[in-house]
Amino acid sequence: MVIAENLLVKHSLRKTKIRLVILELFLSHNHALSHSEIEESIGQDYDRVTIYRTFKTFEDQGLIHKVPADSGLAKYALCQDQACADHKHYDNHVHFTCTQCGNTYCLDQVPIPLIQKPQGFTFESFSFLAQGICKFCVKV
Ligand SMILES: [Zn+2]
Ligand SMILES: [Zn+2]
Ligand SMILES: [Zn+2]
Repeated sequence: MVIAENLLVKHSLRKTKIRLVILELFLSHNHALSHSEIEESIGQDYDRVTIYRTFKTFEDQGLIHKVPADSGLAKYALCQDQACADHKHYDNHVHFTCTQCGNTYCLDQVPIPLIQKPQGFTFESFSFLAQGICKFCVKV
């Protein structure tokens, strides 16, 4: 539980059981998780409102970021950028959804390429979602 605890301390969050449990789930998966996936694992111990509220707190405090999804199902992943903090995220990496296992991964090493803004438009956020076969599903 050490790493999860450290993350809470770093983001000045009080240590609660649910926060630790959800952080542990994120730490033990290498792909993004949705509310319902978390609910499937811990729904018998915690109600969905508590789970939602914890997600919101984590997102607000820079622990997790929303991952673009084409299914309309919101998924979240741990922030790797140490700079992510209170209401500020710097997760401008490409995300990848595997068409085989359906998991979405953060490609932390792949920055979103600079794109040209059309005149008169202001970007507040944009996302880059690649699709294909992940390295765990590739048949060797
Ligand atoms: Zn972030
Ligand atoms: Zn896959
Ligand atoms: Zn990401």
